[in-house]
Amino acid sequence: MFKKNDLTELEITALTSDGDGVGRAGELVFFVPNTAVGDTVNTRVLKVKKNVAYGRVEEIVAPSRDRIDPDCPVSNSCGGCVYRHISYEAELRAKRQKVIDAVTRIGKLSADLVKDIIPSENIEGYRNKAMIPVGLNRSGEVVMGFYARHSHNIMHCINCRLSPDIFNDIAADFYDFISCRPELVYSSTNRRGIRHLYLRYAESSGDVMVCIVAGEKNFKGDKELYNSVIEKYPTVKSIIVNINPDETNVILGKKTYTVYGSDHITDNLCGLNFDISPQAFYQVNRRQAERLYGIAADYAALSGNEFLMDLYCGTGTIGLSMADKCRELIGVEIIPEAVENAKKNAARNGVSNARFICGDAAFAADKLRAEGVRPDVIVVDPPRKGLTPELIDTIAQMSPERIVYVSCDPATLARDLALFADKNYSVKEITPVDMFPRTAHVEAVVMMSRKD
Ligand code: SAH
Repeated sequence: MFKKNDLTELEITALTSDGDGVGRAGELVFFVPNTAVGDTVNTRVLKVKKNVAYGRVEEIVAPSRDRIDPDCPVSNSCGGCVYRHISYEAELRAKRQKVIDAVTRIGKLSADLVKDIIPSENIEGYRNKAMIPVGLNRSGEVVMGFYARHSHNIMHCINCRLSPDIFNDIAADFYDFISCRPELVYSSTNRRGIRHLYLRYAESSGDVMVCIVAGEKNFKGDKELYNSVIEKYPTVKSIIVNINPDETNVILGKKTYTVYGSDHITDNLCGLNFDISPQAFYQVNRRQAERLYGIAADYAALSGNEFLMDLYCGTGTIGLSMADKCRELIGVEIIPEAVENAKKNAARNGVSNARFICGDAAFAADKLRAEGVRPDVIVVDPPRKGLTPELIDTIAQMSPERIVYVSCDPATLARDLALFADKNYSVKEITPVDMFPRTAHVEAVVMMSRKD
């Protein structure tokens, strides 16, 4: 039996859905981060439970063929990238396998339904959104960067490989400004000051939004800071303050006000222009989002005459990108600002067959069902927790011919597909899409059709 601090040699034979390596020592299953399938590693035992144990690499005895040199100094501690030490091909294999594991084990579906994964064109600098925590370390120094894996400790790093250069430049200047002004930085004891630097980028126009998230209600910010950003970065078209006084993991508070320029930026996606407010969801990898929506459109197989429902529609992007191929579109979204964006987005793109409803998807869909609404095709794109059984029931009662499920969590997707199978819907095809290179996350699009 192992105990803490023991050393053991392990062969890594698989990866978990979070990207940790899996190895076996007798009956005990070890989880070891920063390893690759095919590695033999000397592992320091960190924690032993009944059937599982957790370890850390002490030494790589024989490296896997998948290994590459991690090209980021903080990749071992950062909670963002978990695949920086393996080749992109190996990462894509792991991600496709993650989808297969979920749909076969949880969804009880055949692995043959899962098509090849769609790789991302960019694996660096692809993110158009960064939320960079700002805080004070134990010595009272200003730190900003990212949260360490499984923790809320801020590791200092102002140069992220996943961010575009403009974000890293703005973050570096912001740090120069704030590092000698710790009084402007939030801490859980003073509960005032800046908590996050939140950046958004519209790739098609180059426009940037800078949002400062602060703890106190009457935060005024700093004119010197705003002016220096505006002068140096002409593509910054919007500076916004968001107020979040709560001790919570949720980054944005409810209140925002604009201190410079516009209250949104505008990006072009699938040939349409979309206004994006700070609170609204927008796909972080724009080029890959176009591919994702392309697959969703193939699966929706619209001929021009269908009634399309887009649940969890955000700023309306998926539905609006298909609006010219359907008779009528209804979108449902819970964030009021995103619904406002969606309505304006429809108007500015000349889409006149769409309407958007603000509300909980399950509640709104049930109300529409009761009013007799019967879409031909329903697209759902929920957050990680997936759909509720009630919503699955409502969707089945509306009896659309096809359902397109866009998911960012294979486990909840697989759970929901099993429920749809009980409601007369069968899965025709599943395509994994890599929206988030170097992280453990993978997106999947599913086509289901009604069994008649
Ligand atoms: N389809 C959009 C957004 C997908 S993200 C796109 O591709 O851009 C999921 C969206 O669901 C977010 O906009 C989120 O605000 C919204 N959402 C979360 N919970 C919801 C609920 N209960 N009802 C409706 N929308 C919800």
